[in-house]
Amino acid sequence: MADLVKVENLSVSYKIGGGLFSQNYLKAVNNVSLTIKRGSFFGLVGESGSGKTTLGRALLNAVPISSGSAHYDDGDVSYELSKLDKTQLADYRKRAQLIFQDPYAALSPRMTVRDIIAEPIEVMKLASDREEIDSRVRTIASRCRLNLEHLRRFPHAFSGGQRQRISIARALVSDPRLVIADEAVAALDVSIQADVLNLLKSLQKDMGLTFMFISHDLSVVAHICDHVAVMYLGRLVESAPTRELFKAPKHPYTKALFSAIPSLNPDDQGTAQRLEGEIPSPTNQPSGCKFHTRCPHAIDICKKEEPSLQQTDPQHEVACHRWKELFNT
Ligand code: SF4
Repeated sequence: MADLVKVENLSVSYKIGGGLFSQNYLKAVNNVSLTIKRGSFFGLVGESGSGKTTLGRALLNAVPISSGSAHYDDGDVSYELSKLDKTQLADYRKRAQLIFQDPYAALSPRMTVRDIIAEPIEVMKLASDREEIDSRVRTIASRCRLNLEHLRRFPHAFSGGQRQRISIARALVSDPRLVIADEAVAALDVSIQADVLNLLKSLQKDMGLTFMFISHDLSVVAHICDHVAVMYLGRLVESAPTRELFKAPKHPYTKALFSAIPSLNPDDQGTAQRLEGEIPSPTNQPSGCKFHTRCPHAIDICKKEEPSLQQTDPQHEVACHRWKELFNT
């Protein structure tokens, strides 16, 4: 599979405090490199505050890239995201779309479902007359398993799962190549989550989509993603094909996240390795390995030197000084 997105040493910083002349910066994403293959489901996981949402926004060009690069190539166009001119940016908006977390807040209560889905077509000038707009709305609504009779109703008439399907239809109506799904099922009941995940998976196949699936829920990521990257305090700490990562994680943080997944086996209760403490503030980051304040395996070097990302297998990378002795079994 060819690469759709190639990110190299990407950082996103925000100026904080002190008004106009402040020289203090918060690095929300720090020196991240990753590759998303065309047609894949790429998972990005980590606790809240890990920088995963900011990275997703950077790939949508919704926040400025401070340093490094993100290259997009879908076979028709090839863009350097930090160097888009006005015309390229308008085109990129059609090719890269976002599915929001909260299906209740994302939809205007004053618009019908038809108008909500049609809005991006009108804003992006994707169709010239009402007939063509309606045809596109009906096509994407059917693909998202919405009842066409519901297009005349308002969002309040629908359940959470149905609203999320309306949000998905709206995001996909411009026929994008890249979709950033940011906690797209987190606000839904567990029984509805599986329904929406299965819909995303079938849309991926039918429409040739590539997903970046951002989530804090590892059981959801395991169900749907081909490859998973783990972030901690703005850094990528581990990245591997899903099966390999779940079978043999090589970073203590990944291992702790996995062992915190609730088990249905009553014999497993109480054996989970607790992740102690809170993720440190991005404005006051620890020295060396950023995980050392919570890592049960931390030694002296961990407090002094930040580990770089090392390749352990062809598609597996980890940033830990001790991965070989701890996990190379
Ligand atoms: Fe833990 Fe040290 Fe590895 Fe960081 S580098 S994860 S502190 S063992």
